[in-house]
Amino acid sequence: MAANQTLTIIKPHALRDNNAGAILAVLNKAGFRIAGMKMTRLTRDQTENFYNEHRGKYFYPPLVDMMSEGPIIVAILEKENAVTDLRRIVGSTDPAKADPGTIRRMFGLSMRENAIHASDGDQNALREIGFFFSETERY
Ligand code: GDP
Repeated sequence: MAANQTLTIIKPHALRDNNAGAILAVLNKAGFRIAGMKMTRLTRDQTENFYNEHRGKYFYPPLVDMMSEGPIIVAILEKENAVTDLRRIVGSTDPAKADPGTIRRMFGLSMRENAIHASDGDQNALREIGFFFSETERY
């Protein structure tokens, strides 16, 4: 399972701007199957745990503010080479530096409000899928 599944989060600003549908359409068109999906809102505690690896960095406090400020859509995405292929279509962390056609280039507003999260490796994908989804919520 690991190599074929990854986790994405449509960030609060992208939902607020009504871009969730357009982002999901790009993902489906790129060949990702949705193997689980929910709309939820993270508490500050949950957000701090999710981004634990960034604790102490200068961008951590505003990142926690941003990710807990409103609802998100979180999804398990499945295809061959899911982690690598999602990172490619999501693009660089900074939307201004992301390649044309990538999701962050199209929908990102800033380095922080960059539209979408993508797991950065198979181990993290497993951890992040487990963070949001129980076994019975995976299809
Ligand atoms: P990602 O894997 O491309 O999402 O990047 P990271 O895991 O390094 O960072 C997690 C999230 O923190 C990013 O998606 C951004 O929302 C935010 N972030 C990362 N680096 C910076 C930065 O230098 N400045 C700001 N403002 N936010 C950042």
